[in-house]
Amino acid sequence: MSTRETALTVHLVMPNGFPGDDFLRETCQQLHDLFGIEHPTLQIETGDPNYPCHLESDHQV
Ligand SMILES: [Zn+2]
Repeated sequence: MSTRETALTVHLVMPNGFPGDDFLRETCQQLHDLFGIEHPTLQIETGDPNYPCHLESDHQV
């Protein structure tokens, strides 16, 4: 990845699981158009308490 590229990494908690390629395509397009983010990485998590995300904060926002 170029250091000039704007990147974003997000974790999405979606209990119903992977929302589909169309969702990802649309979201990436919006991130680019609205925020100029060229390299988004979207991680889908189901929020299963048995497999907590190690990056999850102690306080839910
Ligand atoms: Zn996570």
